[in-house]
Formats: sequence, C-alpha cells, structure tokens
Amino acid sequence: MILVPKTLKQFLEEMSNVTVVMIGGPGSGKSTYSKYLTGHFDIPHVYTGDMMRDLQKKDPEVAKIMDRGDLVPIKKVMSALRSRLAKDDTKNGYILDGFPRNTEQLNAMREEEISYNYVVYLNVSEKEVIKRLTSRGRKDDKPEIIKNRLKVYEKETGPVVKEFRKSPRRFIEIKAEGKDEKSIAADIIREIEKRG
Ligand code: AMP
Repeated sequence: MILVPKTLKQFLEEMSNVTVVMIGGPGSGKSTYSKYLTGHFDIPHVYTGDMMRDLQKKDPEVAKIMDRGDLVPIKKVMSALRSRLAKDDTKNGYILDGFPRNTEQLNAMREEEISYNYVVYLNVSEKEVIKRLTSRGRKDDKPEIIKNRLKVYEKETGPVVKEFRKSPRRFIEIKAEGKDEKSIAADIIREIEKRG
C-alpha cells in the first residue's frame, strides 16, 4: 500500500468536494434549493436555521431573539455549526444554508477555515419575497417579523453578499423567481458543474 501524506490526501479530497454556501434573503428559497443540491451531489444540508430552531426549544434567550426575527449571537451559532461540521458525513462536502449571515460570521468562517468552493446567491425581488413569506405560515412569518427579517438581511447579510461577489469564479447569481422550482434548481446545478 502506498502511504500518501495526510496533507496531500486532504488536499485531493478537498479538490473533489462540493462545498456550497447558499445565500439570499428570507423567502429566497435557500432551503428548497439546498435540498435539490444535497440530493444531486449526495452531501448533507447544514442548515443553521434548523439548528437555531432546535436550540430555541431549550434556550429562552434564543427563543426571544428568534421571535423578533433578529440574529442569534455568534457564539451559539458557531458552537452548533462546529459540532455539525465535525460529523463524518461532511467530509465529502456540504451545503451551508443560512451561514454566514453577517460580516462577523464571515470573519469567523475564515478564521476557522470553514471551506467553500461555490456561493449560490438567490436573487428575488422584495415583492415576490413578501408574497412567498405571507403564504408560508411559519411561526416567524408574521408581517412585523417579516419586515424586521428583511431589514436584518439587508443590513447584516448585504455586506456579506458584496464581499462574496468579489470572487466571480465562485460566485453564482441566480434569479430565483418567475420559473418553476425544478428549472431553477437545474440552473443552479448546471452553473456549479460548469465551474467544475
Ligand atoms: P432561516 O431558517 O435561515 O430563515 O433562519 C431562521 C432564524 O434562525 C433567523 O431569523 C435567525 O434568528 C436564526 N438564524 C439562522 N441562521 C443564523 C445565523 N447564521 N446567525 C444568526 N442567527 C441565525
């Protein structure tokens, strides 16, 4: 058996991995399209929204924050994310859904070397977002909370999108409305595979 040094082995593994950051406003379809990608590439959906909803059940401070539509403190997010990414199933790639949500989290991502090779930015008009969220019926989909989540997204996540946009080779912008779900999912997969 030929022994390959671990660093080279890791390097080769990373080369063939698909690691995607899904980014977009509330109601842009991040989780919907994440599911298509996890199915197609056979990699797990690492979804901070679900992690925070789990945490919300046992942590009243988190519950209060989420009921307002605000962001959960970074320490709690990083701790949940770290344990999720430490699991074996992320070795061949993952779809990161809902993280990084602001510049602070983007910096933490860089510091902790959470890798990504593609950013999928789902661009949806505000009119369509409001239409989608008001018909979804999730606990935090009430008009005032929706308004706050949109505000938080623009202020906090807007700068992250701007930063990712600076790497055009990795940045995939998708107009995520006006077509059926399956065609949009196919657009995303095509763009990822095109970039190899
Ligand atoms: P989502 O399902 O992505 O819309 O997230 C639902 C809620 O979970 C958000 O409104 C935040 O309160 C919380 N949340 C999810 N991801 C993060 C994150 N990366 N940082 C802080 N809060 C988050």
